[in-house]
This record gives sequence, C-alpha cells and structure tokens, in this order.
Amino acid sequence: MKHWCDWRDAPQADFAVLGDPVSHSLSPKMHRAAFATLGLDLTYAALRVPLAELAVALDFLTEKGYRGVNLTLPLKEEGLRLAREADEFSRHCGAVNTIRLPNRQATNTDGPGFLESLTVWNLPPKCKTLIMGAGGSARAVAFALAESGHEISLWNRSTKKAAHLIEDLKIQATPLLDPALLNQDLLVDCTGASLQSTAIPIDWTQAKPSLKVVDLAYSKLPTPLIEAATEHNLEAQDGKAMLVGQGALALEFWLDIRAPRTDMLSAIL
Ligand code: NDP
Repeated sequence: MKHWCDWRDAPQADFAVLGDPVSHSLSPKMHRAAFATLGLDLTYAALRVPLAELAVALDFLTEKGYRGVNLTLPLKEEGLRLAREADEFSRHCGAVNTIRLPNRQATNTDGPGFLESLTVWNLPPKCKTLIMGAGGSARAVAFALAESGHEISLWNRSTKKAAHLIEDLKIQATPLLDPALLNQDLLVDCTGASLQSTAIPIDWTQAKPSLKVVDLAYSKLPTPLIEAATEHNLEAQDGKAMLVGQGALALEFWLDIRAPRTDMLSAIL
C-alpha cells in the first residue's frame, strides 16, 4: 500500500489516520504492526484531508466501508463538531482524535494515552507538574492530569492563551510567567519547540534530581529537550510512548481487543 494519499484516492482499507499534512504520521506503521500481532486481516491508511473537507471525507470513507479513523492536526476540533456522540473527556477538551464509523462515536485518547506513558515512572500521587504550551495537546494533557488529582503549573509564551486554557477547562492550575522548575516532579513540553530551531529557556539548576521530563514531540534521535534533561542526569522520554498509548486505546475503542503495546512501540522506534 502507498505511504499516504489524498482522501479522494483512498484505497479500500479498514482504518486510517486523517490529517494535513499526514505524510509524517507513524500511525500506519504502528497499527499495521498491531493487526499483524493480533492476526487480524485489517488495513490502515494515511490520508491527507484539508480541514474544510473533513465532513465530506468522512461521508466518503463511511461509504467505502472504513470502520474508523484517527484524526491529527488540524482536524481534532472539527472532528468533535462532526461526531454524533462524544465522551465527556472529548467534549471537555473540545477535540477528538478517534472516530468509530459508520456511527461516528468519538473519543479523545490523547489524554489517557499520555497518562499511560507515565506509568513507567513511580510518580507521587499528587505530582507537581509544569506543562509548557497551551495548544491542543496541552489541553488534553492538562485535563487528564487535573482529573487524576495532580498539581499543575502552566507556562505558555503567550500568557493570555495559558489563562484561557485554565478558565476554559475549569481546572485548578497556576499560570507561570517563566518555565520555572523549582519543586516540580514532572515537566511536560507540549510546544513542539524542541523540533523547531527555537529553544525554550529552562534553568535546569532549579530541577530536583528526581524530576521526570516528557517531550511530546518525537524523532529518531533524542530531541534537544531530552538531550538537555539527560545531560542534567534526569530521566526523560519523548512522545513515542504517548503515541503508542493513544494508538492502543484507539484500537481498543474500535475493536474491543487488548492492543499489543510492546509490538506497536517496536514498530516505530
Ligand atoms: P498546537 O499548535 O495546538 O500548540 C502549540 C503550543 O506550543 C502553543 O501554545 C504555542 O504557543 C506553543 N509553541 C509553539 N512553538 C513554540 C516555541 N517555539 N516556543 C514556545 N512555545 C511554542 O500544537 P499541539 O499541541 O497539537 O502539538 C504540540 C506538540 O505535541 C507537537 O510537537 C506535536 O507533534 C506533539 N504531539 C504529540 C503527540 C503524541 O502522541 N506524542 C500527540 C499530540 C501532539 P502560542 O500559543 O504562543 O502560539
């Protein structure tokens, strides 16, 4: 099967990730590995869908017999608007990343998938967490952490957007003017900055030795944030574990079968 294509040229398949752009997505590799492990004769495509065409693309894929889709940038908010049924977490976050077809039941597995990725660490129950960023992924991460009872501080380069996120999600969180690490147990970078040429100015000397670091961005090589954390002897992980968590939960939502997380991770390393 071709690596990706426009939705109008969609192949006969069972599932797909939709986005614009979508060529970078690791979801096809990960889901195909899961289907192979489970011995399921199912296929997964990557389809470019511009935001304005999501509604018609969903109709088209339903007609073609697709059983479900994952949504990535910039489709998650529009996905919620087009869903017939969405769970409370999705409605609260204002976004969905997984839709079951043909009935358009939708969910958002980004937040729970992120929480799954933290289970490798023995974090304190009321974990003091600094989230950087106030975009779509920060919303899912902040809401999932807040629901689990963690103490959140939020920094975003535009402070208004950080304040808006806190107000809109109705969560307890402290907005910060700088990304200060003092007393934090967990740092989560939801900006994607480490894959751009800009570096967020972090004073690592304030970090507790037990601070854990997550960069939601991921690449073959360690991201600059992961490199910096490791240089300061801190444990860190990039976004691949979250990608697997959200993908596994999406597969379970569609098929009601336990997803093979280890094989899904191996497929994208
Ligand atoms: P959005 O565009 O919705 O939000 C990005 C946020 O980061 C905004 O608040 C923006 O600030 C801020 N930001 C962007 N660039 C910089 C910078 N150079 N310095 C400081 N702040 C910056 O993106 P998403 O939330 O959807 O995605 C963010 C990252 O998370 C991406 O790298 C994405 O790939 C990754 N991701 C990973 C997932 C996974 O499964 N591992 C799932 C979802 C996302 P401002 O408001 O000022 O513009």
